[in-house]
Amino acid sequence: MGGALIGGALIGGALIGGPEGAIVAGPQPGDPAARSRPGLLVVGASEIVTLAGGLRRGSSQADPGLLVAEAPPGRDDLGPAIAAWEGRVVAVGTLAQVQTRLAGDGLDPLDTTRFARLDASGCTVTPGLVDPHTHLVFAGTREGEIALRQRGATYLEILAAGGGILSTVAQTRAASADELLAHGRRWLAEMLAHGSTTVEAKSGYGLDRETEMRQLAVTGRLDAEGPVEVVPTFLGAHAVAPEYRGRPDATEAYVRDVIEVQLPAVAEQGIARFCDVFCEEGVFSADQSRRVLLAGARLGLTPRLHADELRPSGGAELAAEVGAAAADHLAVPSKAGIDALAAANDAGVPVVATLLPATSFFLKHDEYGPARELIERGVPLALGSDFNPGTSPTAGLQLVMSLAVLRLGLTPAEALAAVTINAAHALRLGRTHGALEPGRQADLAVWAVPSHSLIPYWLGANLVRAVVKRGQVVFARS
Ligand SMILES: [Zn+2]
Repeated sequence: MGGALIGGALIGGALIGGPEGAIVAGPQPGDPAARSRPGLLVVGASEIVTLAGGLRRGSSQADPGLLVAEAPPGRDDLGPAIAAWEGRVVAVGTLAQVQTRLAGDGLDPLDTTRFARLDASGCTVTPGLVDPHTHLVFAGTREGEIALRQRGATYLEILAAGGGILSTVAQTRAASADELLAHGRRWLAEMLAHGSTTVEAKSGYGLDRETEMRQLAVTGRLDAEGPVEVVPTFLGAHAVAPEYRGRPDATEAYVRDVIEVQLPAVAEQGIARFCDVFCEEGVFSADQSRRVLLAGARLGLTPRLHADELRPSGGAELAAEVGAAAADHLAVPSKAGIDALAAANDAGVPVVATLLPATSFFLKHDEYGPARELIERGVPLALGSDFNPGTSPTAGLQLVMSLAVLRLGLTPAEALAAVTINAAHALRLGRTHGALEPGRQADLAVWAVPSHSLIPYWLGANLVRAVVKRGQVVFARS
C-alpha cells in the first residue's frame, strides 16, 4: 500500500489499515529522523476540520471550518494540507496554497530533509482534542458503587455513608507521589490514544494541605513530562474532609481550612492555575463557593466550578457573577442560571458551559443538561470527560461526543467544536489551542474515517490513528 503515499518519502514506514480502508503513514513517535526535522506536512486527508475563527457560540457552534478534498486524480496539489514549523501551524489550505505560503519564507514543504510527512489518506484531521474537566490524579477504583446504585442508592446517599469521594480520598492520601505518577501516566496515555492533546486535571482527593499539594505536584510533573499538556486546578472544596464530618459546623469549618490553610499553600506552590468548587446543595452552598473562589482569585487562581449537577444550586448564577472561565456539569441549571450565563456572554465575559454527559450516563440520570437552549442563548458549549473513579471512569472524548449527539441533541460539528476550540477557551487557552490556523500550536488528531460526521457515529470504537503534539507525531496506532 506504499503507493498510497503522495509523491514522496515515507518516514518511519508504518502503514496502518482501518475502517473504510483508511491509511495513516508517516513518522512514528520518537523517530529520531522525524525529530531532527523542524517541519511537518500533513497531506492526503479527505477532510480537515480547522475550527478556525475563534470561540463558537450560537449558530457558529455548528461551523467546523471545513476543508474538503476535491482534488481530481493526479492533482494532489489541490487536496487539503497543513504545514507546521517548529511546533506551530504555519499554513492550512490546498497543498498548492501551503507551498505558496511557505515559499514566502524560503521553505518548501516537499523538502523531506526539513519536513516530516504524515500521509492521512482517506482520513479526517481535526485539532487535537482538549479535555477541560478531568480528575486525573487519584488512587483506587469504585466499581462496587455500581451495585449500590443498581439497588437504588443515590450519589449523595453513598457520600453521606462515607463512600463515594471519601473512599477515593482515603486511598489517595495513602498513595505515594510515585504511585500517583504511575497512575497519571497510564491514563494520560489512554487519553492521548483517544485523541486528547491537552487535558485539565483537578486535585480534590486530598482534602488536606499535604495531599492536595502532592496531587498538584504530580500534575505539574505529568505536564512537564509530556507529550500531553496538563493544566492543573486546585479543588480543595470537592467535599468536606472526613475529619470535619460529625461536627455541627462541619462544612463551614472545612471552608475556612480551604481558604486559610490550603489556598495560601497552593498559591505559594505555584502549580495550580484555576480554583474550582463543587457548588451543590448538600456539598458547598453558593455563598461558601463564592468565598472560596474569590479567595482563590485574590491569590491569582482563575475561578471555575462544578455547578448544578444534581439540583439547581445557584452554580450557574455564581459562575456568571465571578466571571468564571467555565461552569461545568449544568445538568439541571435554573432558568435564572441560564439567563445569567447568557447575559455574561452577551456582555463579553466568556463563561463556557462545559457539559459532562458521560457522568449523567454512568450515574443513570435522566437529565443531561439543556445543551440546545444554551447554544440558542449564545452560551459557548464545551464537553469534558469528567474522568474520575466514581462517576465517569472514561478517558475518551469520542464516547462523550457520541453521548452529546445522542442525548444532548448536538450535531457532530457542534460536538467537535465543544472538544476543541471551546474547550480551549474553557481553559483560557483559546488563543493558542483548539484550532488549526497559522500561529497556533500544531496539535492535531488523525481519524480513520473520511468525514467528521462519522466520529460520534462509530459508537465506542477508537478511530484515532495518529496524534501530533507541537508538530511532532506522538502517537500512531500499530
Ligand atoms: Zn468533576
